[in-house]
Amino acid sequence: MTLVSQRDVFEPTADLAWTIEDDAVDPLRESSREARFAVSNGFLGVRCSRAINREGRLVLPPRTYVAGFFDTSGPEGPISGLVPASDWLQLRVTLDRDVSEHDASKMSPHRLVLDMRRGMLLTESRQHSGTALGFRARTLHLVSLHARAIGLQLIESCIEGPDVEHGLEAHVGEKGFALVPERLEQSVAVWHTKQSGKRLGMAVKATLNIDGRELAPVALGQLAWSWQWTSRPGQIVSFERMVALTRTDGGEVDTGERARNELEAAQRIGWRGVLAEHEAAWSRRWDCSDVVVEGDVGAQQALRFALYHLISAADPMDDRVSIGARGLTGEDYHGHVFWDTEIYLVPFYIMTWPEAARALLMYRFHTLAGARAKAVRMGWRGALYAWESADTGDETAPEQVIGPDRQVIRVLSGQQEQHISADVAYAVWQYWQATRDESFLLEAGAEILLETGRFWASRAGLEADGLRHIRGVIGPDEYHENVDDNAFTNVMARWNIRRALDAAALLRERWPERWSDISNRLGLVDSELEEWRRAAETIVTGFDRQTGLFEQFAGYFGLEDIDLAGYAGRSVPMDVVLGRERTQRSQVVKQADVVALLALLPEEFEGEAAAANFRYYERRCGHGSSLSRAMHALVAARLGEDETALRYFQETAAIDLADTCAAIAGGVHVAAQGGIWMTAVFGFAGLALQAQSLAFAPRLPAGWRSLTFRVAWRGRRLKIGIDQARHVLEATLEAGEAMTILVNGEQHKLGIGPVKVALFGRLDGR
Ligand code: BGC
Repeated sequence: MTLVSQRDVFEPTADLAWTIEDDAVDPLRESSREARFAVSNGFLGVRCSRAINREGRLVLPPRTYVAGFFDTSGPEGPISGLVPASDWLQLRVTLDRDVSEHDASKMSPHRLVLDMRRGMLLTESRQHSGTALGFRARTLHLVSLHARAIGLQLIESCIEGPDVEHGLEAHVGEKGFALVPERLEQSVAVWHTKQSGKRLGMAVKATLNIDGRELAPVALGQLAWSWQWTSRPGQIVSFERMVALTRTDGGEVDTGERARNELEAAQRIGWRGVLAEHEAAWSRRWDCSDVVVEGDVGAQQALRFALYHLISAADPMDDRVSIGARGLTGEDYHGHVFWDTEIYLVPFYIMTWPEAARALLMYRFHTLAGARAKAVRMGWRGALYAWESADTGDETAPEQVIGPDRQVIRVLSGQQEQHISADVAYAVWQYWQATRDESFLLEAGAEILLETGRFWASRAGLEADGLRHIRGVIGPDEYHENVDDNAFTNVMARWNIRRALDAAALLRERWPERWSDISNRLGLVDSELEEWRRAAETIVTGFDRQTGLFEQFAGYFGLEDIDLAGYAGRSVPMDVVLGRERTQRSQVVKQADVVALLALLPEEFEGEAAAANFRYYERRCGHGSSLSRAMHALVAARLGEDETALRYFQETAAIDLADTCAAIAGGVHVAAQGGIWMTAVFGFAGLALQAQSLAFAPRLPAGWRSLTFRVAWRGRRLKIGIDQARHVLEATLEAGEAMTILVNGEQHKLGIGPVKVALFGRLDGR
């Protein structure tokens, strides 16, 4: 089994910059490891749950998640949440029937290697029964990036000890399973959810080879196989299991047959073919997205880990799902989709994998009906997206949660965190800027822009002072609720209205038929557009010309100023330290709010205003969210504060790599991973998307000798290399038509062959 074109498939990529390894046995950290070492392809996600805690119980049941497989009958009541699929990786090994039984699912692997280059988890373990009897096993499992329905598990084991009777049972576990079986056969099964009418199909095939010869099973059950044989010392036992999982959201499609067909197609090329296609798919993704840093091993590892989870999280083939706050690596937030996707993830996909970005934005188009209904229900027009979204677009944010002090806390985000609509519009516009994908704009993008713009124009109420106010919202800083004129919300709203007007003008000019179509359907008349224009001109922004500061919301400057330096080294968030009420009366912010605005719309901060706002708000931020530090890193990098930027970059990386955030058990913080990429590319390389071209303003941290990456731009592919020692930016147009880029404000034409641009002054910004 070990040979695919003469190589050992269980052997990880040799270059350590491509692997994450762990051989510690630490029951307290086990559930974090399950998330960190998860494999996923955007449709299926498999946590690496194989271990036991001190009492001998599994820390968390093994988990496979299927994107979009939501139900409302979870343990926490009628909240739509991801329902785990059955565990297709289970095995029971019996070494000498009379002596002992070993449950392979409870074996602690001695060595775990996440092979990020190849997109798979490899383990090595050894199990002893206390006698001379035992076995060594190497395992590989993956979910295919080429055929996303397919999972593959390979095990090669070598039995140690005398000739004895052995048994192996492969089955599909349903522990803690919330699905209703509909069809359970030997190799095909179908289940349905209790409430949402979704179906899960599964087809499985398992085979066992002893010293290269296939062994017939002694018994077959529902999705189960078992074998028995007498071993000889040194015998090589090779186990292979392939699974196909399919989801249907209702209707007539036979999901069981679909799973069977998917599996048959995979079986035709065999595990070697599945593995080869999977590795080729990963290789193509790495070609487009890898970021190489010379001179900083930690940063390189952080970037690879981030890219691994970002590539794993998306599925360009399914535009009915989006990426939850933890991808498919854990159950925090029930698989719900937040602004994390549009603001922290979509930029990466736009610039490296536009098909994935398009699918994510199409998900927002398909959920427009829910957004329109929410706006109408709350008394406004247009589209107000769900703060937490699942499959239908209906609001799924809980209305209350249990706080750290066990008190029930009302959660207002579902009603008040409305900036989500502008965040979605922002991603749509960024995608349009970077791709000029006309069919997307005409089919979906323009409608999202118009409907979100319309929402804001109706939301920003004209008051006696002649200005428009947006009252009663929550900004990204969730410590302060029910605030008026949150600068982030208002400035993003104004920007959203203006882009809606741009989209209207563009359609009217270039695609007049489409414009008359869409404007008729939406009932958009010129007087309404005029009203939007007036609204955009008069929205309050909270900008104070004298200080150059945006006031985060009306009244913020008058709140208690708490010096956070006095709380350095704390292990809990500031709202727990101070208590909810005092936090709300203080200037302590949970996460980048004005700083996030500075990251997204730097053109709104003229002259010294950028540095002034960063300085002011940075010292008031408690970083109570995993999203916060990356925004600070990005802004600090743009401001040339490379040491601060690098520190925030490293702290962001540590969230998932070093367990600095207590909640990693619930899944990888994919938004933070997106923030790592954004810091490197938008921050240190200073990439900005401009109306006519791409602009770069590099400022690398002192220790980074070079930074190299690729980006996609309007059908082209560019390779950018920034060399700190030689003070050069080298841009190569690898595919597509000639174009112009801006480097530190100067134009450079790119045609065939690399273009080297000398960079003046220190690259590290000092
Ligand atoms: C953050 C939000 C974020 C959500 C999901 C919350 O703690 O404050 O900004 O969208 O987590 O990651």
